[in-house]
Amino acid sequence: MLLWLFIRPLKRHSWVEASVQTASAFEGGPGLAKRLRSWARAFISDRHALPIEMRGLDSRHSLLENEELKKILMEQLVKIGKYVRALDIVELLTDPEIQAEFGLKKTVCLSTAQVWMHELGFRWMRTPQGQYIDGHERPDVTSYRQISFLPRLAELDCSVPQYDPDNNLVSTPPPAPVCGPQNRPLLYLYHDESTFYAHDRREKRWVAPNEKAVPRKKGEGKSLMVADLICPEFGWFQSKDGERSARVIFRAGKARDGYFTNQDILDQLTTAMDICESDYPEYRFCFVLDNATTHLKRADDALSARHMSKGPTRPGNPMFGVETNVTGPDGKPVYRPDGKILKEKIRMRDARLPDGTPQSLYFTQGHPDAGVFKGMAQLLEERGFHGARQLRAECPGFKCPPLAERCCCRRLLYNQPDFREVETLVETHCHARGFEAVFLPKFHCELNPIEQCWCVAKRTYREFPPSSLEADLEQNMVKALNAVTVQHVRKFYNRTQRFMDAYRKGLMGDGASWAAKRYSGHRTLPHNILAQFDKQ
Ligand SMILES: [Zn+2]
Repeated sequence: MLLWLFIRPLKRHSWVEASVQTASAFEGGPGLAKRLRSWARAFISDRHALPIEMRGLDSRHSLLENEELKKILMEQLVKIGKYVRALDIVELLTDPEIQAEFGLKKTVCLSTAQVWMHELGFRWMRTPQGQYIDGHERPDVTSYRQISFLPRLAELDCSVPQYDPDNNLVSTPPPAPVCGPQNRPLLYLYHDESTFYAHDRREKRWVAPNEKAVPRKKGEGKSLMVADLICPEFGWFQSKDGERSARVIFRAGKARDGYFTNQDILDQLTTAMDICESDYPEYRFCFVLDNATTHLKRADDALSARHMSKGPTRPGNPMFGVETNVTGPDGKPVYRPDGKILKEKIRMRDARLPDGTPQSLYFTQGHPDAGVFKGMAQLLEERGFHGARQLRAECPGFKCPPLAERCCCRRLLYNQPDFREVETLVETHCHARGFEAVFLPKFHCELNPIEQCWCVAKRTYREFPPSSLEADLEQNMVKALNAVTVQHVRKFYNRTQRFMDAYRKGLMGDGASWAAKRYSGHRTLPHNILAQFDKQ
């Protein structure tokens, strides 16, 4: 188009004009025009060395700069697990909800998806050895593990039955009041998702960013995703007669069932809670889930200081609030005529003052500005932070100086207990029926015994004759899952206990791994374990 505008017989444009015209036809500005000129010159001087454009012209490519989209993609890809394909990106972006969210009209082509895989840090290579991936010892992850997760589990553990190395029940929890007001033993239900592949015999695959590198070609195969729960007391969780279970078998991807969403998790938990209540009323239950963003979703109107202004919303400006999908009577999103999801703006819910009374984020009836968002400074003043109006809205880039307490309004609000401890939808959903829910620390798959159950099932699965039929895939997968016995589950559960004990005794990832192996069969480690490891 650039060359045509430059050379066409009538209405010829100058070189620069032609480039600007062409750029604007692709919704680009002077920057794109300049790049177009340089590519065209490069092309004219050597028609065999086409300049490869990595960003800009292809607007779908720069889409990956959208952190939100990047996060969603990364998360879904990691969830698909070991045999993730570039095609999964193509399929993921056919989801009308995602398309509406990010203003896409269609999905990307496979070659773009392959470039994206690299951009997201995946490499095509042989499976790396070793269990630990970067991030396992990241400060935020270890602090969640040590300060929040392990103490919480220790508290719960005192009401949970434990097993000896021969998988026999060793301790029934003590009666109330030690084990809680309801005087019932507690059982963990570990949740996870895994994908089975028709051709699970490949050695090469896309390897996630934190693994290690060397690109190569790809293979395919039908896949099935399964999301299920295990319980060290029973094995795969199901009703007493074995008729009902919370297992969800899922055809992930295009023209199939889509992807596992937060609502899917909530529905699955509902099924599990129904079974718990009807068949196992003698127990209490605690769900243990992965720390994935889909699991951590919070209510749309949940408290968040992220986008709050320091002062009240000014007259004429859109009122501070949160966008939420409008849902129809079936609970599904409503679409606008242009295919985008219909959104509406709603108020953010009330905050809670330290004494427990609700604090409206908006001026209330009787105030001259009734209904107007108060702004962070006013909210802080009401909480007793006098002089909050003199503070800045936020430190540059919200990178506050370490240990700063009163550096900016946003940090102060962030650190308020009600802002910090916003429940996830999963927690709210479980707590409403008297169930507990705990999230594993990120990257700590060694603390979820179900991970090893998948391994056993997949080993069994690989022994079946290969088949490309989806029906065979499902049948073989179910048969393979049935190969996991309650004995397996208890053994794997004890292994997670060993890991937790190692972390409590101060060992880090590698040390914990060493100790868990060394004391295989035991539930706890000797007290001098740290000294023993140092001598290694
Ligand atoms: Zn600050």
